[in-house]
Amino acid sequence: MISGMTMPPAVEADGMCPSCSAPLSTDPRFVTWCPSCSWNLDPSARSGTVTNTAPRGRAERRREARRRADGATVERVFRDLANPSRPPAARDGARFAAMAVAGSVHLVTAAFTVGSIGLLTTGNLLMVPVAAIGLGIAFVTRPRLGRLDPDGSPLSRSEAPHLYALADRIAAELGAPPAELIEVTPGFGTSYTRVGLRRHGVLTIGLALWEVLTPEERVASLAHELGHAVNGDPRRNLWFHSAVEALTHWHRASAPGPVEESGAGLVFMVMDWVAKLVMRGVHHLTGLLLRLMLRLTLAPGHRAEYRADEMAARVASSTATRSMLQTLVLGDSVETVFRRRSAVQQGRRSTRATSRDEADASLWRELREYVTSIPEAERLRRLRLSARRMTSTDRTHPPTHLRLQLVSARPPAEAALTLGETEAAAIERELETARVQTARAVLMS
Ligand SMILES: [Zn+2]
Ligand SMILES: [Zn+2]
Repeated sequence: MISGMTMPPAVEADGMCPSCSAPLSTDPRFVTWCPSCSWNLDPSARSGTVTNTAPRGRAERRREARRRADGATVERVFRDLANPSRPPAARDGARFAAMAVAGSVHLVTAAFTVGSIGLLTTGNLLMVPVAAIGLGIAFVTRPRLGRLDPDGSPLSRSEAPHLYALADRIAAELGAPPAELIEVTPGFGTSYTRVGLRRHGVLTIGLALWEVLTPEERVASLAHELGHAVNGDPRRNLWFHSAVEALTHWHRASAPGPVEESGAGLVFMVMDWVAKLVMRGVHHLTGLLLRLMLRLTLAPGHRAEYRADEMAARVASSTATRSMLQTLVLGDSVETVFRRRSAVQQGRRSTRATSRDEADASLWRELREYVTSIPEAERLRRLRLSARRMTSTDRTHPPTHLRLQLVSARPPAEAALTLGETEAAAIERELETARVQTARAVLMS
């Protein structure tokens, strides 16, 4: 959508491109652009909504330099993998450095714990508050073992035997451990995480994505996620991941809050000032460490993601993996449908429960119909825009267009595993309750 301040580009009345005279896209619901020469591919860039001004200030220049360095790493990893005749050089130094930084985070926790207990054993009562503060810090920086998504609806094996059976078959095909829990969220994406000391594998299915994928694409999506259990991603091991989680917690907790006028005396003002200064230092340091850890694991992390895509292609076919990846650029459409339905829902609060279930569940049907109705020209525009902006599903994944290119660059793979119609229908029935619950969560938000 073009913002109110922008001027729409001049579109020729005859529907021809003003730049190359090829036919323009025709669906009035979407941006008018030229698939031949990419004229008006990105209206926000044309109108100046996205500016390309040179970075001002030292901090901004440093950010820009970091962004460029990361971009170069992203492209180098892709080039190395796309060219099998040139095997990538092993760069284990960065991986070890990342693990060492994670180790130093754990060491701080251990030092605070041991030091505080040591103070308590001295028997000096004056040391008790200091030890309490030390133990408090150790508690906050403790290794975090991951947790379930609070917005997720967990499904047990007895509630969804066919879904678990499919996930088990995919995991067996990959040589990965079976998912111990499957949960459903309203989100646009699937994910895999490990929680608890025993590192239980949890597969999260975002219904907004699941609903718009074909059965083959769903298999590809689950295979990519279950592949995370065996793709050697250093960012997912307990040592590294728990340190990142602890730092993230500290970074958020120490973020500067709104400035409040204090009516207290001078002593309290000084104490307040010192506390704010310390928190600012913690915020800065944890931000620095987080950036360092993420940059050190950028290359091995991306290699692992490409490996997960290869696994998806092996299990579900290259074709299904490619079309699943192409769907990932349609996230904006999901937002459009959610917003539209939430607005309509405002007037339906008093509807009876049974018809409300139907009304809520119809959100997914509406989403499927809308996404199916997106014309090829608009899908192509989103893909080209994603490539131009180097966008990815999140900060851990390589840009989606590079993932697509790499799957296409490999010899085509046939599906090792197929999802039959009866099995697919049984899984749909198992998701019925979660479909209503998650739709309600979307519409009430
Ligand atoms: Zn053109
Ligand atoms: Zn992934």
